[in-house]
Amino acid sequence: MYKTVYLKKGKEESLGRFHPWIFSGAIHHIEGRPEEGDVVRILSADGRFLAVGHVQIGSIAVRVLSFEDITIDRTFWLQRLRAAYDVRKSIFRQWTVDNEQKTNAFRLVHGEGDGLPGLVIDVYDRTAVMQAHSVGMHVSRHEIADALGEVLDGVIDNIYYKSETTLAYKASEDGGNGFLKGSLATASDIATENGLRFHVDWLGGQKTGFFVDQRENRALLERYSQGRKVLNMFCYTGGFSFYAMRGGAELVHSVDSSSRAIDITRANVELNFPGDTRHEAFAEDAFKYLDRMGDQYDLIILDPPAFAKHKDALRNALMGYRKLNAKAFEKIRPGGILFTFSCSQVVTKDNFRTAVFTAAAMSGRRVRILHQLTQPADHPVSIYHPEGEYLKGLVLYVE
Ligand code: SAH
Repeated sequence: MYKTVYLKKGKEESLGRFHPWIFSGAIHHIEGRPEEGDVVRILSADGRFLAVGHVQIGSIAVRVLSFEDITIDRTFWLQRLRAAYDVRKSIFRQWTVDNEQKTNAFRLVHGEGDGLPGLVIDVYDRTAVMQAHSVGMHVSRHEIADALGEVLDGVIDNIYYKSETTLAYKASEDGGNGFLKGSLATASDIATENGLRFHVDWLGGQKTGFFVDQRENRALLERYSQGRKVLNMFCYTGGFSFYAMRGGAELVHSVDSSSRAIDITRANVELNFPGDTRHEAFAEDAFKYLDRMGDQYDLIILDPPAFAKHKDALRNALMGYRKLNAKAFEKIRPGGILFTFSCSQVVTKDNFRTAVFTAAAMSGRRVRILHQLTQPADHPVSIYHPEGEYLKGLVLYVE
């Protein structure tokens, strides 16, 4: 039987609206000393059943797995993973109308958006990369991998578990990253997105090895690239760069502070456009590069890492976005297009817009919004958990 978490009086309200997090301040007491990552039952102050979820030390004390009084077993994982895959199949149907087999990189599980808070699974060709953001998901990883193998039978051969960066202390206790199914020998590190190929750095790379969340925004950029001089700032493994090249850019410069990312960017450009001299890559700090560069670019992409991981870092993050965008506004050519993003969950759409507006005003340039961008359909947002909408982007025309 699961141990029990009792909430303080009146603190069950958000659960009534199916919000999947319980903050530590809402807890009255816990019965039976559960271990971190255990499944617990949550009861109201007057003993009414509310939910079951994974318990963890920290401000989010419980992540809800179900609002029904069920056991979290193999059937549960199978049901949730099948439901997630069903959603993707609906999405693929509209992808593949005229795009048969041209994209084999997608997000299968997007945490709360798929009723699995703390879990991310990305699929790259025949390998699934699984990442735990909660101790509960880490503890359950073998069960999850087992169910995943069944749900994606015939679709994937390998499951790679990668949580050293998200749960360093737990992963190091139990052997760290590694294959839960298949092996390096059977896993190709090349995946395809809209017909472009790229190496997925799932062994050493950030997140699960590639940013599938920018897929549609990259495709949009391609259509703006003809004849332009492009700066892809924070390029990581070069996603936006090779779309710009296919779109007919005159030159593409990719910049990232990580030399490993720059090496992979070069390899990816070579994979798609062997010997193409339009591309150059620089391992350099963004602010330094923006300061020293000239005014030749008329298409600039700014896709920085999350500047704020927590609420208390919000002010500094907004200042960061303002400074970064101000530099782009200062240097971009008249008639230039700026693709600017924020992937910080705690920065709202309005926060981000205000930061970019302030930067535009500081530059004195006349700026119009052409597109407002977000994450693609394989990163769904639970309507009860608006925090799941994390990616925000603006495409701006700068006179
Ligand atoms: N646009 C990329 C994803 C960007 S992720 C894509 O489509 O795949 C953010 C990147 O910013 C990371 O690769 C990280 O190495 C880089 N980065 C972080 N701080 C930086 C800095 N100060 N200057 C330049 N790059 C930086």
